[in-house]
Amino acid sequence: MFYSIEIRGVVQGVGFRPFIYNLAASSGLKGQVSNNGYGVLILLDACQEELDAFVQKIRANPPPLCEIDSIKITQIKKTKSFECFSIQMSESAKSLSSHIPSDIAMCAECESELKDKTNRRFEHPFITCTNCGPRYSIIRNLPYDRKNTSMDEFVMCKKCAAEYENPHDRRYHAQPIGCHECGARLSLLDNKGKIIESVNIIDKAVELIAEGKIVCVKGIGGYHLICDATNDDAVKLLRERKKRPSKPFGVMVEDIDVAKKIAIINAKEEELLCSNRRPIVLLKKRDDNSLSDFVAPNINQVGLFLAYTPLHHLILQRLNTPIVATSANISDEPLCTTYDDIMKLRGIWDYCLEHNREILNSCDDSVAFVENEKVFMLRNARGYAPLYLRLPQTTSKKILSLGANQKSTVAITVEDSVILSPYIGDLGSLSSINHFKSHIETLKRIYDFTPDVVVCDKHPNYESTKYAKELVAQNQEVELLQVQHHYAHILATMGVKGITTKVLGVSFDGTGYGDDGNLWGGEFLVCDLEGYERVGQFKYFKLIGGEKAIKEPRRVALGFLFEIYGDGVFNLNNPITNSFSAAEIKTLYTAYKNGLNSPLSSSCGRLFDAVASLLDVVQVCSYEGESGLLLESLYDENITEYYKFSMQDNEIDFSQIAKQILDEENSRIAVSKFFNTIVEIIYLVQKKYDLPLVLSGGVFQNRVLLRLIMKKIPDVILPESFVSNDASIAYGQAIAALNLKTL
Ligand code: ZN
Ligand code: ZN
Ligand code: FE
Repeated sequence: MFYSIEIRGVVQGVGFRPFIYNLAASSGLKGQVSNNGYGVLILLDACQEELDAFVQKIRANPPPLCEIDSIKITQIKKTKSFECFSIQMSESAKSLSSHIPSDIAMCAECESELKDKTNRRFEHPFITCTNCGPRYSIIRNLPYDRKNTSMDEFVMCKKCAAEYENPHDRRYHAQPIGCHECGARLSLLDNKGKIIESVNIIDKAVELIAEGKIVCVKGIGGYHLICDATNDDAVKLLRERKKRPSKPFGVMVEDIDVAKKIAIINAKEEELLCSNRRPIVLLKKRDDNSLSDFVAPNINQVGLFLAYTPLHHLILQRLNTPIVATSANISDEPLCTTYDDIMKLRGIWDYCLEHNREILNSCDDSVAFVENEKVFMLRNARGYAPLYLRLPQTTSKKILSLGANQKSTVAITVEDSVILSPYIGDLGSLSSINHFKSHIETLKRIYDFTPDVVVCDKHPNYESTKYAKELVAQNQEVELLQVQHHYAHILATMGVKGITTKVLGVSFDGTGYGDDGNLWGGEFLVCDLEGYERVGQFKYFKLIGGEKAIKEPRRVALGFLFEIYGDGVFNLNNPITNSFSAAEIKTLYTAYKNGLNSPLSSSCGRLFDAVASLLDVVQVCSYEGESGLLLESLYDENITEYYKFSMQDNEIDFSQIAKQILDEENSRIAVSKFFNTIVEIIYLVQKKYDLPLVLSGGVFQNRVLLRLIMKKIPDVILPESFVSNDASIAYGQAIAALNLKTL
């Protein structure tokens, strides 16, 4: 009998064809395997029993990087006979729905070769194989062949070429293959661009880090700024130069043993840290950890990740101390990926460990945490990107969705899936907007994609909205769809969990443009794939100073004080009023009363700010999400009480809760009761509806809140293995577009 076996998923560039080849050869089966437009196509000459055994083996033990979506078997007519089993070369046609593999951490086999003095790749900083190394960051085009990657300029030496051509070799068709002789090379520069000569460049770079210098290191999808994480002066210097006073830094360690000396790590967290995706994992700090206090000041968590490139291993092995490894960029600007980019930051670093393998697609480090055995992402990037997500139905339309404005991501649809770009960052500067556009171009180029529909947020001033309108203006054939922000949030969680029925969505975040033009962010939405109805919200409050209030929790709190005490605030003497001058308070009161630059908001994120200010935890934030993180550190799980609240006309008036917080003497008690109150509010509202409860929005990045909700409402539906912040919006927008009437 003849069978065709079509396998879809992440099956190209992951050693799938040689795996099939070896499997067939060892079973004595004849036929062939090739990449096609959808994945991998196998023709097999076998009887039913042999076929079953063959497919079972594919499922049981596939190559580590492959992800099988589907296996379709069809019996076909015997048209020719096969002498043996062979691998056919890639078809030139584009693999339109084939998945691009992510950048993957060095595998154990490569690590042992890296450390083996007798191996010809001993200490080769770019060692890779079929099972590991860069992928997405070096791909220019599909199909994934060396000529379509940034490795095309390196000519393989004879030895590497022989390995590359040999189906029995573990580097068979490993596109980034190379060695000391023919691969990429390191160089070390000072911040004037002068090359530092040294017998061993890595030794020299390590010496500089150990001396307390800040060294910029080119990695997989961008550059890191690196310094000794145990050296106060070095970490402080990095903070000063990067103008980043307190936002926690990620810390890279050599292996899990070192990680365990710094943080308390459970089995699930260990699995995530050691996975070949190697995200930064947020962990509880150990009291006796060796890190400088300046790494993650005033919070009880630390973000750790394990070395993932051979170069990181070579550095950490020599240095023997954890390092701060933070993305090399200026705040709000995109990650540096080129020499020119990094030279613009020369005021920040002292030396740069550079290499000549080009980064074609930038990709930041991913960030995740584990709560209740479940993985939640804060940033989907290296190791995960591009992310393939399911659509509730197949579509023939080509949808391009442009996401929100913060934590930007973009997405395209291909048949029944959405391909989501890695985290791009905030669209707050010209260069980040260009960067956003280049991510769109990358997806268009690789997938030969021209949109029929462009989807964006309703916010008229989002850069993504403006760009969507530009695209549509350029081409009258293209349809435009604007989707409400919080509805898109809920659709995204529904999408990852495959939910298509009616739900109660709770969308709590910092801000999003509401249908009435106000700043929403504390919303209860009854929704399905067709639309939504807003059934509850926090009662609108005034954000004094608009945008300014986002960075200054004291302005949000002051608004509540005005609401509670009116001009009685002039006589108050508390940390909030004391942080302003008397004149300022008078001016702000006038603005508040007259609604001048004081937009209405229902944002739950801002309520966290208000609480942080009322309790004098923070009055002016130096980074986004700071108030939530600081409040988490104060939560006491032994306190189970909550504040009184009421819901009238579907509105919860937070000033009632604010009053009780003002009367509280102990801030731990107040913080704990506040968290418990938010959970009670969600609980109360969901009891009114006999619908699945779905959560999304940046507020649900708060671990304490998540933990409490999972405990109180065990069947709550969360964006597991995905993000709840605005990086999820592009996905939700694509789902919303499926129901455009004209589609
Ligand atoms: Zn490897
Ligand atoms: Zn070579
Ligand atoms: Fe949002």
